[in-house]
Amino acid sequence: MPLFPNYHRAPVTFVSAKNATWFDDQNQAYSDLSSGIGVYNVGANNPKVVAALTKQAEKIWHVPNLYLNPLQEQVAEKLGGDSYTAYFANSGAESNEAAIKLARLATGKSTIISFSNSFHGRTYAAMAATGQDSIHAGLPMLAGFEYAVFNDINSVKTLLTDDIAAIMLELVQGEGGVIPAEPEFVKALVKLAHDNNILILIDEVQTGMGRTGTKFAFEHYNFEPDIFTSAKGLANGIPVGAMLAKNVLAPALAYGTHGSTFGGNPLVMASANVTLDVLDNLLPELQTKITILWQKLAEFNHLNVVTDVRGLGMMAGIALTIPVNEVVSDLLNEQIIVLSAGQNTLRLLPPLTIPTEQLLESLDKIKKYLSEK
Ligand SMILES: *Cc1c(COP(=O)(O)O)cnc(C)c1O
Repeated sequence: MPLFPNYHRAPVTFVSAKNATWFDDQNQAYSDLSSGIGVYNVGANNPKVVAALTKQAEKIWHVPNLYLNPLQEQVAEKLGGDSYTAYFANSGAESNEAAIKLARLATGKSTIISFSNSFHGRTYAAMAATGQDSIHAGLPMLAGFEYAVFNDINSVKTLLTDDIAAIMLELVQGEGGVIPAEPEFVKALVKLAHDNNILILIDEVQTGMGRTGTKFAFEHYNFEPDIFTSAKGLANGIPVGAMLAKNVLAPALAYGTHGSTFGGNPLVMASANVTLDVLDNLLPELQTKITILWQKLAEFNHLNVVTDVRGLGMMAGIALTIPVNEVVSDLLNEQIIVLSAGQNTLRLLPPLTIPTEQLLESLDKIKKYLSEK
């Protein structure tokens, strides 16, 4: 085998896709409720994205960050408006690395408080910020990371010292099991951070780009983070990451402190730019689909093997009493693509553009499968 064994790969080869339908090399159609792990938010091979990419590919793909890049400025403006400054990377983990570096440089403090069950990526600082022992296993960790209990404000208070640079969290924990932050917890956290001169760093890598029904999840919680990161859905499948911070923090990432060869190159920025436009048009109508989704998901509460149904917007978790990995592979055999999260949670991240009928049909199939367990 020429590939490392670090992934479990299901025995299927996908060769093409259109919106929420993927096709394998036998020309079998699959219904996608995963968005390729939260990436295809505006649908696979979205025609507007394909057109923008094709057009840009014919002009120029790569321009290093030694020269002006108006496309980056346009995307930055669409992501953060007038009050945020942007840096572009190539992945979620890399955006979080930049965010952690900025928080430390801007405050002169070193400790980052993150949370149990969190997931921030696999590079070193992002991995250290991730509050899961299994992800740290067998490796020495970076210093300067402390872990509080998610949704427990007192657990944060006990970690306070005068060396806390930032509190870092996902507003809906994705990989950890689709666990939404409680509004009261977030409110208390924002106040605690404000009172103690600590930055709030929100990882919107999975929750961003319309996933929860608003462009970013922090809009549901009525506050503006000091720093936030985006990646997965940002360019609808072209690798990208972004770190945004309040303008006042911008000088801390001074000349020479950070950089990337590919970060924000014209090809990926053309994709992000049009993805953001498509999203702007789609978000006002998305609420209807979300309401229908949660009406259907409420029916899952009655199933014997279901212990909880939770999430926000187009991000849903169904906690199960049966091994979730088997469920994921059985459903793949039924040509439905779903994900797992945490120990026992079935995770659904359908493309925001999935036709409502297809969504309901796939959910009925999942419900039938689970009801027979
Ligand atoms: C996926 C994910 C990451 C890591 O993103 P990569 O692009 O895989 O590096 C970080 N944070 C969250 C919340 C994620 O869901």
